[in-house]
Parts: sequence; C-alpha cells; structure tokens
Amino acid sequence: MLVNMNDVLIPAKKNHYAVGLFNAVNLELARGIISAAESTRSPVIMGTAEVLLPYGPLEEVSYYLIPMAKKASVPVVVHLDHGLSYDTCVKALKLGFSSVMYDCSTDSYEENVRKVKEMADLAHSYGATIEGELGHVGDNEGSAEGSSHLDDPSNFFTDPALAKDFVDKTGVDALAIAVGNAHGAYKLPPKLDFERIRTIAKTVDVPLVLHGGSGLTDNDFRQAIKDGISKVNIFTDINVAAVEAEFKKFSSMDKGLIDLIPAAVEAVKQESEKKMKLFSSNGKADLSSGASLSADIEAITKLVTQEVLKYLNK
Ligand SMILES: [Zn+2]
Repeated sequence: MLVNMNDVLIPAKKNHYAVGLFNAVNLELARGIISAAESTRSPVIMGTAEVLLPYGPLEEVSYYLIPMAKKASVPVVVHLDHGLSYDTCVKALKLGFSSVMYDCSTDSYEENVRKVKEMADLAHSYGATIEGELGHVGDNEGSAEGSSHLDDPSNFFTDPALAKDFVDKTGVDALAIAVGNAHGAYKLPPKLDFERIRTIAKTVDVPLVLHGGSGLTDNDFRQAIKDGISKVNIFTDINVAAVEAEFKKFSSMDKGLIDLIPAAVEAVKQESEKKMKLFSSNGKADLSSGASLSADIEAITKLVTQEVLKYLNK
C-alpha cells in the first residue's frame, strides 16, 4: 500500500529500527526492492533523486512506482530524494509521490528555513511528507548522486541546537544530518560521529535520516540506528549488485537483454533484503500506521458484512 514517511518512520523511531530508502531508477530496481520488502514483511521507501533523473525521467518513473506501491502487500513510501529545485518537488507531488526531500543544504541557514518551510506547507496540503537537510552531506568522488566533494566534511556537520530550530521553524517530518557520512563509495573507511547522532536525537523530535549508507560497516549501521537514526538511504550497493549479477550472467547469455533482467532483479532483492534485516525493519510491516489503518478498514468491512448478512437472513 502507498503510505507517507510518517506512517513508516514514526513507528521506526519509537521501536528503534530504521527503514531503508532504495532508489528505483528502473523497473528491475523497483521489482527487486518491492519483492525484498514483501519477503521480509518490511516497510520500505523507494523513489528517485533529482540527479538520477537523466537515467529515468520523473514522470515515467512515477508510472510504475506509484501503482507498484499501491499494489504491494507492505507499506511503501514513494519519495523524491534530494529535490534540488522547487519545480521538481512540486512536479513530484502532482504526480502522486507521497514524500519529497527538498535539499537546500547548500543555501544559507535562513534561505534553507524559508524555502523548506514553504515546501513543507505545500507537501502537507497534498497529504505528503517532507525531509530537509541541515549541515551538508558531501559526496565521495565518482558518486552517482552528486559531485560536492568536501575537503573537510566536519566543517559541515549538523549543529544540534540549530537542528531543533530548523525543525521547529520548517515543520519537516524528517531531518537528514551530516555526521561523517557521504554519498557514493567511500575511498577510506568513514568515521561516523555517533555522539553527535545521540545529541541530535535527544534535541529533535522528528526521525533522523542517514544518507550515504553504502559502504558503512554493519556495526556502523547498528550503532547509528541505536543512537537515533530512523531512515537510511542506500543506492550504490544495489546499483552495483545489479551490474555484478548481469556481468556474471553475460557470459552465458543466449537470449539477449532478457537474460539479464531476472539476474538484476534477484541481485537487487538479495542486497535489499540484507539491508532490511540489518536495519531490523523486517517483520515490521504491520506496525506502520498506514498498515494498521488498512487492517482496521478490513476489520470494519468484515463486521459490517456480517451484520448485513445477519439482517438479510432474518
Ligand atoms: Zn543523500
């Protein structure tokens, strides 16, 4: 079922697990991600990012993401990651995305607040949720998600007191923080500032988001989630897993492209399942409020049907 970020992240924050965001730039990625979520009974967030639009235009991506989310047996958020312009975020909302990130983290603090607050009001009027970013998560060299390489990332770490002010003033539903994480594949093992995650989690009410998850160790994830992260963004790991599987299949290919499709879907599924288990979102599909609402509707429908049948049988 299609839900928004609050439906999956508020229960995650309360019960100390995290929900993964996996970018689904094409159909193989989307199929792998959804089937991993269904097989592990995990809520999931999938979508695309503004810098990934050259690989799959927003409108075309929406044609499969939204129906697939609605049809899924687990809660699925369809999210625009790193919307960089007002117009792209509005377009995503109009197409039916249930969540957007408006990334104004390279603007001044005042501009970030002003722009994100305006978008938050708009997103909420659509029944959608919004994520903002404070501090700045940079990119490892060669990242598919961007090219803002930072020489000293610690200059851009999120300030906990400012984070509270930002959330209060903008009304964002989730906050991406910079704590030593970066997009793309890490050249050197990253060192996360766990103390900072704990402090921000104590200061801010909304769920916290860790970008640049590909390449962190399993222990990094466990610790970050324990310290207060409720959403983790993953792209590089599934992006690479799909191609490695296709490469292996390539030598025994006899029908062409259609040989590679199932290999890619299966690899994305396996890699996503691994992450869902690591984040402990497996088995949590029914905790999401969207899920309980639809369960309630089902239960009410059943009761009403029984009552009507009783009446008709009299
Ligand atoms: Zn990011």
